[in-house]
Amino acid sequence: MHDSSAAAGSTPSHAVVIAGAGPTGLMLAAELALAHVDVALVERRTSQALAGSRAGGLHARTLEVLDQRGVADRFLAEGKRAQVAAFAMVTLDLGDFPTRHTHGLALWQERIEHILAAWVDELGVPIYRGREVTGVAQDDAGVDVALADGGALRAAYLVGCDGGRSVVRKAAGIEFAGWEPSVSYLIAEASTTTTPTPGIRRGPRGVQAIGPLDGGPRIRAVISEPEVRHGDEPTVDELRAALDAVYGTDFGVHDVTWLSRFTDMTRQATSYRAARVLVAGDAAHVHSPAGGQGLNLGVQDAVNLGWKLAQVVHGTSPATLLDSYQAERHPVGARVLATTLAQTAINRGDPRTDALRDVIGDLLSMDEPRRRYAGLMSGLDIHYDLGAGHPLLGRRMPDLDLDTADGPGRVYPLLHRARPVLLDLGAPGVLDLGPWAARVAHVRARHAGAWDLPVLGAVAAPAAVLIRPDGHVAWVGDGTDHGLREALTTWFGPAAP
Ligand SMILES: Cc1cc2nc3c(=O)[nH]c(=O)nc-3n(C[C@H](O)[C@H](O)[C@H](O)COP(=O)(O)OP(=O)(O)OC[C@H]3O[C@@H](n4cnc5c(N)ncnc54)[C@H](O)[C@@H]3O)c2cc1C
Repeated sequence: MHDSSAAAGSTPSHAVVIAGAGPTGLMLAAELALAHVDVALVERRTSQALAGSRAGGLHARTLEVLDQRGVADRFLAEGKRAQVAAFAMVTLDLGDFPTRHTHGLALWQERIEHILAAWVDELGVPIYRGREVTGVAQDDAGVDVALADGGALRAAYLVGCDGGRSVVRKAAGIEFAGWEPSVSYLIAEASTTTTPTPGIRRGPRGVQAIGPLDGGPRIRAVISEPEVRHGDEPTVDELRAALDAVYGTDFGVHDVTWLSRFTDMTRQATSYRAARVLVAGDAAHVHSPAGGQGLNLGVQDAVNLGWKLAQVVHGTSPATLLDSYQAERHPVGARVLATTLAQTAINRGDPRTDALRDVIGDLLSMDEPRRRYAGLMSGLDIHYDLGAGHPLLGRRMPDLDLDTADGPGRVYPLLHRARPVLLDLGAPGVLDLGPWAARVAHVRARHAGAWDLPVLGAVAAPAAVLIRPDGHVAWVGDGTDHGLREALTTWFGPAAP
């Protein structure tokens, strides 16, 4: 770890500097370190400690992504497996989904960040802690990053993972388009003199929830305010008034260890890249926490961007590869924004919305809608548009059981090193990686079972698949090598970079 008091005289330089060591920045740092990129994090906080609980868990696709890197067990060991995917407060069971993670994980954000930070530390990524990015200036060759203490950093690329108020996004002139909030909430962790009855109530603007924090006796409360208020430093008097307005008592609330305000402001960066500056996570999109998507979306942005940025930094791929980050992740973010807008509307407590919620609940109790929305909310249905072809193209590779020359195995451990894999299940001698052999692992294997995709169901077994480091399928073989060379060039750079 780099000492926060490091002399600000010389200008340290790195291939990539990441502003912000929240979940997105940490995941991106790990991805780049696995790809042997000289990367450093700059973080305003002096430690990973986080005020308040914030995000409450991971969805199934995030668990898969962590499994692809061999670290999912670290999270599973600390959290509680649970059906966390929900829409309009209807829980969507993943029990019959074709994944090894037929559930999400209940785990507070601070623990998620600690586990990620420990991994990043193992990977040897320097973190400039207690340093705040205040300015960004880029030229043709790189980016100068100004810090609040007068210091500076230089990088070939800068990624803003610095949250919803991203200084990096603003300095790069990236527009943050969307909607002003329709509701503000107070969120608190506190003690009370009388014990509230745990549960959820609906108000005209949204839900109120109160319950024991980590089993009690302290409480966690989320209270929608009667009108939209701004500023994330509300007072305890405002909390008392909000509790009183909803419950007719403030429960003698005291010893408030966390009190914050959040809204359903919904905005998305119109561009995820401005030349050598990129944005990811909350820096690229903010929305209501309904559905528990934000952290998951950020981690998956990082996994989409990391290997691409690594290849550009190493010179194996042209910088245009980075355009696919925007092309793939912006629509995924827009879809999450849309579901949170819908959920904000449907969580209101007037009789008409109550009736609408009953209709939605009825629909989601049917198998096909349940599967469709479970795929959406868990992230297991994500499909990047890589053109027409086999249904696997652009979708996540399932973690199939394999028979290989080294014995039985499964797909995801093949991705632990964040390198691409040509999984060759057809006749020997048909596929040859040629000049890409140093960049792409060629694994010959057999899979005896079915090929099942979430929501879609069974698909035809392919003769081979080219799997990107993020676990998405870049090419599907039909028993010939038709199109393989083009796919290798598109995704992993020209034969002679
Ligand atoms: C009440 C609440 C509940 C939520 N529940 C869920 C949930 O259940 N599931 C879910 O997926 N998401 C949830 N979220 C959203 C989730 O917390 C965020 O989406 C997530 O933290 C985004 O991660 P990030 O790394 O992109 O940004 P952040 O977590 O905001 O991290 C940004 C980092 O950058 C640092 N930073 C900021 N500016 C600078 C600067 N200028 N220089 C240096 N460092 C800087 C910050 O200190 C921070 O460490 C919830 C949010 C709230 C408020």
